[in-house]
Amino acid sequence: MSNSVRPLRIVLASSEAVPFSKTGGLADVVGALAKSLDQLGHDVTLIVPDYFLMRQSAKGLPTISETGLRFTIPMNGRSVAGTVNWTQLPGTGVRVLLVRQSDYFDRRQLYQEHGHGYVDNCERFCFFSRAVLEISRQMILRPDVIHCNDWQTGIIPALLNSQYANRPGFENTSTVMTLHNMAYQGRFWHFDLPLTGMDWRYFNHHQMEAWGDLNLLKTGIAFADQITTVSPTYAEEICHPEGGYGLEGLLRYRNRDLVGILNGIDTDVWNPGTDPHLASHFTAETVAVGKPRCKSQLQQRMKLPQQSGTPLIGMVSRMADQKGFDLVMGSADRLLSKDIQMVFLGTGDPICEGQLRDLALRYPTKVAVEIGFDESLAHQIEGGADAFLMPSRFEPCGLNQMYSLRYGTVPIVRKVGGLADSVINYPSDTKSPEVGAKSLETATGFSFSDYTNEAFAGTVERALQCYSQKSIWQKLVQNGMTSDWSWTRSAESYVDVYRAAQGRRSARVAERRC
Ligand code: ADP
Repeated sequence: MSNSVRPLRIVLASSEAVPFSKTGGLADVVGALAKSLDQLGHDVTLIVPDYFLMRQSAKGLPTISETGLRFTIPMNGRSVAGTVNWTQLPGTGVRVLLVRQSDYFDRRQLYQEHGHGYVDNCERFCFFSRAVLEISRQMILRPDVIHCNDWQTGIIPALLNSQYANRPGFENTSTVMTLHNMAYQGRFWHFDLPLTGMDWRYFNHHQMEAWGDLNLLKTGIAFADQITTVSPTYAEEICHPEGGYGLEGLLRYRNRDLVGILNGIDTDVWNPGTDPHLASHFTAETVAVGKPRCKSQLQQRMKLPQQSGTPLIGMVSRMADQKGFDLVMGSADRLLSKDIQMVFLGTGDPICEGQLRDLALRYPTKVAVEIGFDESLAHQIEGGADAFLMPSRFEPCGLNQMYSLRYGTVPIVRKVGGLADSVINYPSDTKSPEVGAKSLETATGFSFSDYTNEAFAGTVERALQCYSQKSIWQKLVQNGMTSDWSWTRSAESYVDVYRAAQGRRSARVAERRC
């Protein structure tokens, strides 16, 4: 164990985790972090809701068994019962506890259907958060740290500072709150406060209230011992109004306890050398042979002409305002006047889905769109595309650009958040050949700053010019494929944060005693 004094008992609480449930990067991050912490020698328990109906149709899950544990949570005047199933994260010693409550979690989706959040989301995830503590207590997990993720687990640090502060089993428990996306804060009307189990005296603008609402993410930020977010640049951005979504003041106040740790990727799952979804496996040495085969597979699957020399640009994304689809649509005609193909996979905003479908109808030999969530196709796009688009308005970390780098798919990104921290721009339009050559030694992709159609389309055109210069493109591909995005480095940084959280908690307890 590298940065160790003794192994830590870590409880990771999340509303989704691969391979059990996933709507986005949070699930990838939590699953991979749990695995890496286990590899570092720590004792890891992952607690997630049991989306029973959804997992019935999921493939490749480990066997899940009942623990026999039953618990009840007082939810606003009534007692709600839950049970706990368990399994192990495949190939690891990570204990996974799945919180079963059929009224709350046996649904078709995790958070929303047809663009509308479930009306009882506050109740569902307050129940889940309170279950995390109740299960930890009853199973005598005695965590050194509970690592909370996003608003769905935001009340855990608050409960540990109030009604659970002196409960046996939590004597040494500190909390870390990770902010995966400030745009999602879990804001609910104030009459939901009793669902949290917290007293009304905490409903003030320093702790649980924001602009008149109950705010679960704010609650986590206010009470956690340490706060992390998913890239160093995003850690700065969220302390300003554009990135903080109203919580920038509190984040500035807690700045000393806020750390940006760039996510890693699961290099077993995202490995072009072994990826079961690809027609051909490849490494940095064999990409020149393997990628064309994957490209052909992708063109075939998406019913695009088999043109090996035409640059194929991919995009896999939630269709949300954040992701920059308006730039794509605003530049589409200009870009599609050139010899290119584009492939989109995503689901979300119905307007955006419709616009992309229309684009595919207008350019049937150049654009292919798949609306839906398709893990296998996501891998095939990473494997088969030449370049990958992430023109995000904001991007806390982003994972697809790192998958792209590993798969020899050159990322074209907006220089924000984690995209700024992981993609090194190739300034191909520089006037000086020396500057160009020097940049090429380290460059891995293309980036732009202004959120305008002109900046976006100009950058894609810059990339297309480089695509036609094989030696430059190959160098970008090699630079990306040989960079290291594994979790080990990030997991060690989390362990440092856990230890800092323990220190902060001890200081807080000592203060209370004085
Ligand atoms: P975010 O968490 O904001 O959605 P990230 O880039 O951090 O964005 O992570 C997105 C993850 O979800 C990636 O693993 C990506 O491949 C996956 N993903 C997003 N949309 C789809 C989809 N429609 N089908 C399959 N995978 C998807």
